[in-house]
Amino acid sequence: MKRFLDWSAYRDAGMGDAYADIPKEGGDFAKAVAACINSRQCEAEGKQVMCPSFRLSGNPNLSTGGRVRLLKWALNSPSPDQALADPELAEAMDLCVSCKGCKRECEANVDMPLIKAEYLAQRAARQGLSWRSRLFGHAPRWLHHARWLGALIRWRNASPRLARLTRSLFELADDRPLPAPAPRAFTAHALPPRTTPVDPALPEVVLLVDTFSRHFEPGIAAAAIEVLQAGGYAVLLAEPDERDSSERPLCCGRTYLAQGMIAQARREAARLVAALLPHVRAGRTVIGLEASCVLGLRDDAQALQLGETLAEVAGRTLLFEEFLAREVSAKRLNLPLARLPGATLVHGHCHQKAVGAMKAMRKVLKLIPEHDFALIESSCCGMAGTFGLEQEHAALSSAMAEQALLPALRAQPEARVVANGFSCRQQMRGHGDPRPRHLAELLRDALGTPAP
Ligand code: SF4
Ligand code: SF4
Repeated sequence: MKRFLDWSAYRDAGMGDAYADIPKEGGDFAKAVAACINSRQCEAEGKQVMCPSFRLSGNPNLSTGGRVRLLKWALNSPSPDQALADPELAEAMDLCVSCKGCKRECEANVDMPLIKAEYLAQRAARQGLSWRSRLFGHAPRWLHHARWLGALIRWRNASPRLARLTRSLFELADDRPLPAPAPRAFTAHALPPRTTPVDPALPEVVLLVDTFSRHFEPGIAAAAIEVLQAGGYAVLLAEPDERDSSERPLCCGRTYLAQGMIAQARREAARLVAALLPHVRAGRTVIGLEASCVLGLRDDAQALQLGETLAEVAGRTLLFEEFLAREVSAKRLNLPLARLPGATLVHGHCHQKAVGAMKAMRKVLKLIPEHDFALIESSCCGMAGTFGLEQEHAALSSAMAEQALLPALRAQPEARVVANGFSCRQQMRGHGDPRPRHLAELLRDALGTPAP
């Protein structure tokens, strides 16, 4: 059985009881699946992130362990390639929202999103990619080369007839707005001039402006730069390596990995690593704004065969909030933040939770004087990349959001809302709440603007 991802990290797995039940087919991929010790913790009630589809349906096939059981059955069958196309398994994998809750919360750290990426790659090899997968996967390309599509998306969002057409053509939910690119993508030329001098005692940083921030919400990257500069940091921008012939901004490859387009994901991640390597070798810290992109680099990219340089780059890449929290701990952060009136509600992206970044969020939110903030106790918001935009998933996606997130927002209509995940913000906006913003924007608001 051909494998598309590199599963060699699991090569030595299988020693002892925990890995006793490794399927016959699949090599190291089978070992990754067999990491599950069948404790059924993923089917227990609790406040954990995992597993959103199981929590809503109660269907054991839709828990992490349930998916593992179906995969093991397929990999043990006489003809695994056929068994991987089994409809029950297909449904179970289809309803995994790749939240990484299992990678963090399951005691065996089952990495179902990566297993799903392999599963999707195998399915694409068998039956090809849908037009919708191509549309979503290639987003970094068309966002850069076909910006006119932005006008078409805005038109589609305003026209029920066009929305129905996109449902027929691409199986997109016609009652959900598609994220529309900003009129202008992020450009460093539009930034206001720096007002705080660089403090040479502080570490230099490199900002990774990801595809989502760059094309949809460039104000977030601008706010992050303003905040970092106000702290005295020299901020460089991550740009493609001079040998890079793609003529596109950098991207981590997340959109490709999510569709099982492994070769393209590898190409994107390799471009990114090549561009960041000189910076990390010069001692700079890389700062990302989107948890999915940073997690992609620090975790998923290990399965993309990028060599040892990946570890060098990944080891010096932090989320914006992680960087600021680290600087607080090092007693180097000095931001002139003023009080903000009113309360703040904070929703954590699943991948922020997966990398343990919510502690850093809390630490940074406390920097604002007398800040009244609360973290919403919620699992996945339900958008999960493009899941909530897909016709067959939109209702389930809304139900996920209704479990905790949307009621919490409705309970505090006056509060400002912070959500660092692009998809989480889209989910809230798609359900009529225009408030969510990134932490960088909140901090920028608090810079030198005393509350009345
Ligand atoms: S996936 Fe993790 S939590 Fe679920 S049964 Fe397996 S080991 Fe237990
Ligand atoms: S990634 Fe999330 S949805 Fe998928 S199996 Fe793991 S916990 Fe469940």
